Amino acid sequence: MANPPIGTIQKRDNYLCQYCGKDGLESLDNWHDSTVDHFRPRKYGGTDDSENLVTSCGHCNSIKGDRLFGSIEECKVYILKRRAELQITFEAVKKAVRG
Ligand SMILES: [Zn+2]
Repeated sequence: MANPPIGTIQKRDNYLCQYCGKDGLESLDNWHDSTVDHFRPRKYGGTDDSENLVTSCGHCNSIKGDRLFGSIEECKVYILKRRAELQITFEAVKKAVRG
């Protein structure tokens, strides 16, 4: 099946990251960071059909990578847990560098 036109998936999802809720229309930076994720990764046979595509911010898309999940909800739990862990690492690095 042909790829949906650019922006179609983000419009359908109201430019909200389906994993963390980041609003892609809140700012230029958020808009620039808005990506489309293959929920079922291509490496596992995921297609470009719109049912397999979800709006994702770049951060969530990067954390998810090419992992395979049974449901959006399961994926969301994984990503939010990783984000919380990364937040702790980030705070430690920031404190070490900036005091
Ligand atoms: Zn996100």
